[in-house]
Amino acid sequence: MSRRIIFATGNEGKMREIRMILGDLDLQVLSMKEAGIDIDIVEDGTTFEENALIKARAVAACAGRDDIVLADDSGLEIDYLNGEPGIYSARYMGEDTSYRIKNANLIGRLEGVPKAKRTARFVCAIAAVLPEAAEGIVVRGVIEGYIGWEEKGTNGFGYDTIFYVDEYGCSTAELDSETKNSISHRGNALRLMKERLAGIL
Ligand code: IMP
Repeated sequence: MSRRIIFATGNEGKMREIRMILGDLDLQVLSMKEAGIDIDIVEDGTTFEENALIKARAVAACAGRDDIVLADDSGLEIDYLNGEPGIYSARYMGEDTSYRIKNANLIGRLEGVPKAKRTARFVCAIAAVLPEAAEGIVVRGVIEGYIGWEEKGTNGFGYDTIFYVDEYGCSTAELDSETKNSISHRGNALRLMKERLAGIL
């Protein structure tokens, strides 16, 4: 039986992307739920990397000794707003506030700001905890873009409708999931993590 990778997420969309990218590592890729782990984790780190490690360590404490536990933390950094919403992306304006309202608020805060100053990036840190790397492994993936003047597109989630990429001349909510995964912060972080794991397993 191949070894298990447990990814600390309850999000099915993320699991699909993770399975696609880590699929050829010859490991069993499980969600937390599939591994029978159900815990609440307090993400009180000050960086994406710290939060990813906090999650991975918390889940590893409930997993088997041989399991590889992965966790991610991601968000949107807007340069003109000094990196906001950053690690607070999910909690920005309150966890239950709709993204229609969050996105309209961010566009409003950038009123009159020219394109050159609207730069932003999605960031994703992924942490791995496994017996071969006692202190853990952390990687970061990014995708650079800018905040547009209006919401566009219906794919994706969260801030995708206001985050535009120059290379495609559209928002990430206008890209199909395969194209987005091939350039996204999470896709880039997953590919880096896959290389690191392939090097030590
Ligand atoms: P988490 O890492 O799942 O906690 O995600 C943090 C938050 O960052 C999400 O709730 C979204 O608000 C935002 N975010 C992260 N990745 C993306 C993305 O690919 N598109 C849009 N928003 C994202």
